Amino acid sequence: MDDAGSFLPLEVKPGREAALKAVRTLIAWAGDDPDRAGLKDTPDRVIRAYAEWFGGYAENPASSLSKTFENEGGYGEMVLVRDIDVTSHCEHHFAPIIGKASVAYIPSDRVLGLSKLARTVEIFARRLQTQERLTAQIASAIEESLAPKGVAVQIDAVHHCMMTRGVKHAGTSTLTQHFAGSFKTDADLRNRFLSMISSRR
Ligand SMILES: [Zn+2]
Repeated sequence: MDDAGSFLPLEVKPGREAALKAVRTLIAWAGDDPDRAGLKDTPDRVIRAYAEWFGGYAENPASSLSKTFENEGGYGEMVLVRDIDVTSHCEHHFAPIIGKASVAYIPSDRVLGLSKLARTVEIFARRLQTQERLTAQIASAIEESLAPKGVAVQIDAVHHCMMTRGVKHAGTSTLTQHFAGSFKTDADLRNRFLSMISSRR
């Protein structure tokens, strides 16, 4: 669906000047003077930060996951990468979602370079997200490219919109999980994943 990157046709995507002007407008709307010395270069800094935070629209997770290797040794157990940094932004408030992801799969015929799991998390995280969708998208991308026997993803993250506005829920974190294939059908395997990601080194 949206895995190919930008959701906007290029001719609709606003240019740099329009983006700078939008940041100036938000500064003024907040009540400050966009022309005072400390804020003069802020629009430029903000759009450069946005380019980094939302760089995931320009990247296709399928191509990052396309390089797979033959499972030569016939490894049949879980491959787990845990505590992958998640830096995302909620689509409701543009506020940071900061946390950790753990991603596991049971190989079939093909295996992935380990860094590709973290890379997949990063590409989907660098978009406007809900944590639920982010979790499911990571799992689906791995399923589609690798056709493994099973995939498990857990994300534990703090939503800054919850911590800093409205009824302030400081100290809360949100846990989401997605299980597919053998992780869905085999409760023992699922429990092994959960105990492996909660055990500390
Ligand atoms: Zn939010």
